[in-house]
Amino acid sequence: MSRIPLISGNWKMNLNHFEAIQLVQKLSYELRNHDYESVEVSVHPPFTNIRSIQTVIDADRMKFQLGAQNCHAEASGAFTGDVSPAMLQKLDVDYVIVGHSERRAFSGETNELVAAKASSVFAHSMIPIVCVGEMLEQRENGEAEEIVEAQVRGSLADLSKDQLSEVVIAYEPVWAIGTGQTASADDAQAMCCYIRTVVGSIHGPAQTKVRIQYGGSVNGSNAAELMAMEDIDGALVGGASLEAAAFARIVSFQEV
Ligand code: PEP
Repeated sequence: MSRIPLISGNWKMNLNHFEAIQLVQKLSYELRNHDYESVEVSVHPPFTNIRSIQTVIDADRMKFQLGAQNCHAEASGAFTGDVSPAMLQKLDVDYVIVGHSERRAFSGETNELVAAKASSVFAHSMIPIVCVGEMLEQRENGEAEEIVEAQVRGSLADLSKDQLSEVVIAYEPVWAIGTGQTASADDAQAMCCYIRTVVGSIHGPAQTKVRIQYGGSVNGSNAAELMAMEDIDGALVGGASLEAAAFARIVSFQEV
């Protein structure tokens, strides 16, 4: 079963729309046609930049997939300050990150809410990137698998069988995000393999199809080793995605 790896740049709350345009142009300049042959690349700017980036991608025929970092579960309504999946769909967004650990921690997002968002993203013809991952204390207590399994089951609870094959899961140990401390390739592989088994236990045929990214301080030096692992199908990249050359190194390491 060949799964196309997905390398996603999560720009978080960084860059105004002028800076965002510069970054995507630099990234496009850094990458060559063959870099996209065996990998998909998505960029996830803040909401205020999505329209600008969409326009640049279209005008310059760039090969990036367009992403968002979050959305509301409802298509419209009295939800001041939120952005709906219908609005993202209209901007030709391909992938929407849901349940990032920063949203679980700072905005109190639960597995139930993440499940509703993931389902709504699919209902609007986009693909959710569902984030899961344990905290350091949980890993040290030997609870990592149990925690991650509960997140996977809870966050995918509203998806259909077909959607379980299409969803992207990002395994991001919380202690590795933005810390410079990456999970070892063996530990990352072991958890991604476990997640795959959990998905398979929900719907057998999805086990070999679901794509599972690793995220947490991925950079040009560690990407190759992580991406070589059997059950790791790409990366969700934060800090290193803000530098075109660094992100391009991660993308092109797919070929090694
Ligand atoms: C992330 O934001 O999902 C992430 C993995 O960040 P970083 O690469 O900076 O650790």
